[in-house]
Amino acid sequence: MPDVIVYFGLLEFAALALGLMGLAAGAVFFQRQRQRAREQRRLLDSLPYPALLFRKDKLAAHNPAAADWGESLDLRALVADSRRQANNIVRTIPAVEGQSYQARAIRLSNTETLLLLEDLAASQRQQAFYRNFIQNVSHELKTPLTVIQGHSAKMGDAPDDREGWLASRRIIADEAKRLTQLVDNLLTLARLESPSFQLDLAPVNLAALLEEAILQISDLAEERKLALSLNIAPGLPRLPGDRARLKQVALNLLDNAMKYTPPGGSVTVEARADAERHQLVCSVQDTGEGIPPDDVAHIFDKLYRARRAKGRPVEGSGLGLTIVQQIIRAHGGDITVESELGRGSTFAFTLPISS
Ligand code: ADP
Repeated sequence: MPDVIVYFGLLEFAALALGLMGLAAGAVFFQRQRQRAREQRRLLDSLPYPALLFRKDKLAAHNPAAADWGESLDLRALVADSRRQANNIVRTIPAVEGQSYQARAIRLSNTETLLLLEDLAASQRQQAFYRNFIQNVSHELKTPLTVIQGHSAKMGDAPDDREGWLASRRIIADEAKRLTQLVDNLLTLARLESPSFQLDLAPVNLAALLEEAILQISDLAEERKLALSLNIAPGLPRLPGDRARLKQVALNLLDNAMKYTPPGGSVTVEARADAERHQLVCSVQDTGEGIPPDDVAHIFDKLYRARRAKGRPVEGSGLGLTIVQQIIRAHGGDITVESELGRGSTFAFTLPISS
């Protein structure tokens, strides 16, 4: 065996150190690249509208909403123009079925372009919805304010009319209460719809919560001559829920059931477990006036109030059921209604047992 002499001097040591440093720098670089790609993916996936990322002129990533857009020649042309002009560009892109999209090319770097697509029809629909909503809210606020103004003027005009004065004072107090409720509901809804909204989750005993809600309204039910009953299946498991919000759901549904059921009627609350679907099912049933079939599909809409065939006007804002639906959905459940005019309504909601 020939002797092999390995000479490891200062120069070799420096070369080895340089090599190792190069390897480490390469590893850090690739790690950063992968982290950046992961962050970009997360950003794309978090966007509710179609979004695509191009590296030079090649599609590098897109979110699920943009699945049909990868091959679009219009988008590729837009990316190419944005790169050529070294500028962000906004352009309307005709799409299938007569829809139009607004495409926004945003240059993230010399090589990367982010493309965001906005469905113009959907955003116009949304703008129309909010215009309509603000008109409705303004109308709801204006009605009690007009009554308050009218009666406070009347009190000033005839200070000696004791009876008229007392009646006006009662009307003003009622209208002020209505305004407060409306504003409270609007604020609750705004909170529920805010992107930062989070449920305050803890194990909830639904049976105890329903018993509490029934107890809370029992005096009013007696006053209105309504029979209340509660049927809870034994051994209901606890569920992860926001107790205060779920109580609000129960009280809102019970309040509606009492409001729309004439004296002599009944309100029944039931709760059971649906083991197959890992959920609890709860229903609030009344023997009241029911909901006109044309209105049923809309009663969860903001500010929607069904037309009432007869009877005294009932106070309300048309926001209660919207709030109820939002809370149930935030818990991962759903709410449905079955109703027959003149016979009554049943609101049934589900809540997952495990989160
Ligand atoms: P409101 O404050 O007007 O009661 P909600 O959002 O709670 O608002 O309900 C929307 C509409 O749904 C009501 O105006 C009413 O027409 C109808 N509704 C809700 N619950 C019942 C019920 N139990 N029986 C009949 N109609 C109901």
